[in-house]
Amino acid sequence: MIPYGKQSISDEDINAVVEVLKSDFLTQGPIVEKFEKAIASYCNVKYAVSVSNATAALHLSCLALGLGIGKLAWTSPNTFVATSNAVLYTGAEVGFVDIDPNSYNLSLENLKNRLSEAKSLGKLPDVLLPVHFSGQSCEMEEIHALSKEYGFQIIEDASHAVGAKYKSQPVGSCQYSDLAVFSFHPVKIITTGEGGLITTNRKDLYDLLIRLRSHGITRNSDLMTKETDGEWYYQQLELGYNYRLTEIQAALGLSQLKRLDEFVTRRNQIAERYHNLLKDFPITLPTLLTKNYSSYHLYVIRIDVSKIKKTHKQIFSDLRKNGIGVQLHYIPVHTQPYYQSLGFKFGDYPVSEKYYEEAISLPIYFGLKDADQDRIVEVFRNCLNS
Ligand SMILES: *Cc1c(COP(=O)(O)O)cnc(C)c1O
Repeated sequence: MIPYGKQSISDEDINAVVEVLKSDFLTQGPIVEKFEKAIASYCNVKYAVSVSNATAALHLSCLALGLGIGKLAWTSPNTFVATSNAVLYTGAEVGFVDIDPNSYNLSLENLKNRLSEAKSLGKLPDVLLPVHFSGQSCEMEEIHALSKEYGFQIIEDASHAVGAKYKSQPVGSCQYSDLAVFSFHPVKIITTGEGGLITTNRKDLYDLLIRLRSHGITRNSDLMTKETDGEWYYQQLELGYNYRLTEIQAALGLSQLKRLDEFVTRRNQIAERYHNLLKDFPITLPTLLTKNYSSYHLYVIRIDVSKIKKTHKQIFSDLRKNGIGVQLHYIPVHTQPYYQSLGFKFGDYPVSEKYYEEAISLPIYFGLKDADQDRIVEVFRNCLNS
């Protein structure tokens, strides 16, 4: 089976991990900080805080921006459940903004309408979590302008988008947001096994996130409420967690980061090749806004069921049967039974539901060979025609 995504681990990556295993620190050592500095520099942002996975990164980001009981955050229904779950962990309420039919990111037009409606109802969101679906940035400049007009803060869920660019700036630069989150799960662009990271330009958020990922504890006497009792002393200032990344993971991440541009370049080549090979198929190809350079975490096509004899489900199943490991990103979050139990209904976000009936993610990853891709296209052609 050709999978939809797969990590690429080089000998250099392996050696970097082995070096850590031979060193004094397996966790809380120098490599974590080195990894964070390297990502911050890559992203053109002041601070980076690594954590155990992107779900933890989203959770801490929500807490750092003050989400909790009585607060509200909005995100896209076309995301992994982790985005909206992170809001719910804090006790805050979650809402969704339906997607744009072309980019599959949350729709700017819908956002504008929903905000003006929410304002008149006195129920504006405190935080917005735009998700850079498939590696294409949302329209951050416009979203940022709306955040000033309506007074909400912004967490970018950039889990798909490390290595992507928006208006020539790296995604994660936080030029138009308070915080941005990356995932280093093996299916994403670079990996640490499990891992996540938050970027920010705000010192206050950085200091708080550093404490929250490690039990809410500080050893900095400037932050303590009284004189230190001695050299052993620390204080817990907030209710934090153990969400730390290990040295082993950070070493892999640091080594993978050196390969990031190569990974993204190759993903763009594969996407370009798909565009050409699939252009006459009865499907909709992905489109990019001109200000975007995508990291192409996903290559999503939409089936036009009016032009073929098979259902979406049959095509998906035929592809799998023929060794093509297609996936579907995503089941609209509001249609999940848990979210239905919170009161969301089918029909609430119709564009994301229509998209779900047509979308298929084709394999795309650094190690995918041209010959694999040719085979995918041939199998796909046969599935559509038979
Ligand atoms: C993968 C992913 C996450 C969660 O990442 P983990 O590192 O697995 O916790 C969150 N949001 C989106 C959009 C993702 O794709």
